Amino acid sequence: MKILVANLGSTSLKWRLFDFSDEAGRILHRGGYERVSDHSKAVEDCINELTRAGVISSVKDLAGVGFKTILAKDITGCVLLDEKVLNAMEAVNYVAPAHNPPYIKGVRIFAERVPDVPLIGLFEDAFYQWVPEVARRYAVPEEWYSAGIRRHGFHGASHKFIAERSAELLGRNDVAERAKTLYVKGASTKINKPDLRVISCHLGGSSSISGIVNGVAIGNSLGMSPQSGLPHNNRVGDLDAFAIPYIIRSMGISLDEVERILCKESGLKGVSGVSNDIRDILKAADEGNQRAKLAVDLLIFSARHWIGAFYFEMGGADAIVFTAGIGENSPDIRAGICAGIESLGIKINPEANKDATGCEAVISAPDSKVKIMVVPTNEELVVAREVKRFLENKKSKSSCKI
Ligand code: ADP
Repeated sequence: MKILVANLGSTSLKWRLFDFSDEAGRILHRGGYERVSDHSKAVEDCINELTRAGVISSVKDLAGVGFKTILAKDITGCVLLDEKVLNAMEAVNYVAPAHNPPYIKGVRIFAERVPDVPLIGLFEDAFYQWVPEVARRYAVPEEWYSAGIRRHGFHGASHKFIAERSAELLGRNDVAERAKTLYVKGASTKINKPDLRVISCHLGGSSSISGIVNGVAIGNSLGMSPQSGLPHNNRVGDLDAFAIPYIIRSMGISLDEVERILCKESGLKGVSGVSNDIRDILKAADEGNQRAKLAVDLLIFSARHWIGAFYFEMGGADAIVFTAGIGENSPDIRAGICAGIESLGIKINPEANKDATGCEAVISAPDSKVKIMVVPTNEELVVAREVKRFLENKKSKSSCKI
């Protein structure tokens, strides 16, 4: 069974093609385009590349195309992306303006180009369906909660992969198995004691932190929208709700302009005034740029804030795992986050930290009570696996428990 996973950005298309002739699945092809202005052409070029590479002979070889979809009104899990679901995504475009519109557009292009291939989305908030209500709730009136004002949590595919892989690396195959079959109805795995408590730090263009107990998320720093929590590359992160009426009234700008600034001109870019790429910001900070240094400090401060929250909530941690573009590649950011907390049993090994870039590694000192690890994420594999389950279980509309 061949499954294509397409990652759609407003100006990019990236893909991985998986073959599931064996249960684990393996990558047959990966590729992508940046600076895309015509997504229809990008989809056509992708299909041509797959054909030219000989990994498919025609689109008929594709059992399904999977998408890491973000948010839809009142729908989550792993679902067929039909018009009803696309409309439910469109209904919350203004909550995820950087993410939903390119996905909706891209899915419609695929639907036109490969009408006989099922298009399936694994929503990024599906991993948080077991989060306790207290961790979903903002202190708003009941009617607002019912209307959808709640923490969803995102980056679900990435944090789920970390839940699986970190458990394997920590020798807890019971937990890894549970994490892998989390969305399978009726699946049950006996979990041995003690509980495995992992803090997963996805630090990239978007950043978020999850607390995970025995493979199941207990919360995530992203809230109702993918703009909250830690500062992102150009999106704001946490902000007091009352800042918005204040800035509208005091600066006389429109709500549309506020949304644009919070979504495109804020985060690390807004604070540093240098770039939305942490590499440029770190370099500028090194050269003495104080705003750049503040942006770096803010990312570290915010990460520590959320790690601390989950450490407390879980009564400690067995592992802190770094992943995604920054988490996998920036020893400086990891060192900053782990600095001065030896009394909590969290002690980094500076040499191992420096050497670990883009590969699996343990970067804690041998006497650290909490293992600190770098684990490259594989969100596409998580999506592909759920798409495969969905296709094998076509009769039920969703392969997820919800
Ligand atoms: P996205 O959230 O967009 O999927 P990624 O996980 O690919 O992003 O992360 C992209 C980010 O990773 C960029 O902001 C980039 O600055 C950062 N990054 C990539 N390589 C490095 C590196 N070697 N050192 C520090 N940061 C890096």
